[in-house]
Amino acid sequence: LSTAAAGSDDFMQRTTEIRQRLEASNDLGDLRALQAVLVDLTAGAARSASDMKANLGELSAQVHSSQEQIAHLEHKLSETRAVMNLDPLTRIPNRRALDQWIGTHLYDGDGRRCQAYGVLVLDLDHFKVVNDTFGHLGGDRVLVEAARRLKLGIRDIDFLARYGGEEFVIVLPDCDLQVGAAVAERICRLLDVAPVSHDGQEIRVTTSIGVAVARGQEAFSAVFERADQCVYIAKEGGRNQAVTEDRLP
Ligand code: GH3
Ligand code: MG
Ligand code: MG
Repeated sequence: LSTAAAGSDDFMQRTTEIRQRLEASNDLGDLRALQAVLVDLTAGAARSASDMKANLGELSAQVHSSQEQIAHLEHKLSETRAVMNLDPLTRIPNRRALDQWIGTHLYDGDGRRCQAYGVLVLDLDHFKVVNDTFGHLGGDRVLVEAARRLKLGIRDIDFLARYGGEEFVIVLPDCDLQVGAAVAERICRLLDVAPVSHDGQEIRVTTSIGVAVARGQEAFSAVFERADQCVYIAKEGGRNQAVTEDRLP
């Protein structure tokens, strides 16, 4: 385009010169010579225009192909993001996805809490024994089934994530301690209602749950910490039970 612009400036300058010379000259020989120069100039300009048209066609094809490439890469990027946020074993969101969800749903850009919420921290009971007895595959099978049952036990607006090995977190928006306790009790029963079948064997699965709710402007980590302390009380109390934060010392 810059070559075309320079060519066009040159063309304008030379035609202006020729016009001035045409106006100043009465000599037929001069006029003929100037006419020949004008014809050459015009032919050159026509060639440039035609070259430019071809270049623009090529450029337009390149832009089109770049647009296709961008669309493809955007698709790949969203696929990669989805994979990064998903736990490959249980197919539920992982800890990274939980962190992102908290940042967009529970707190605003300035770190202020936007709504009431409760946190359930779950830790499957005696999971090491499950692995030792039924093998790692048996343990994996229990994790997958536990995640499926947990999903069944919560509302669409709740957020379930696999936090680590045999630990899960559920965030319950719009929830007080009483509601959180009721959900946790229900989940304890949902897991223990029937054993998980694996390789012709039945594996009992139970969980200990800690329940806490957000206070004032505290960070998610503070609520999580209290719920996690409740898990220890639930373990000490015999497991397969939910403990709410009002039991904390
Ligand atoms: P507690 O009731 O006190 O929670 O005992 P626990 O055995 O569940 O707790 P512990 O922390 O001793 O053991 C957790 C086990 O979970 C150990 C680890 O190997 C196992 N684990 C972690 N991630 C996975 C996984 O992805 N698959 C399987 N099969 N096991 C896992
Ligand atoms: Mg654990
Ligand atoms: Mg455990």
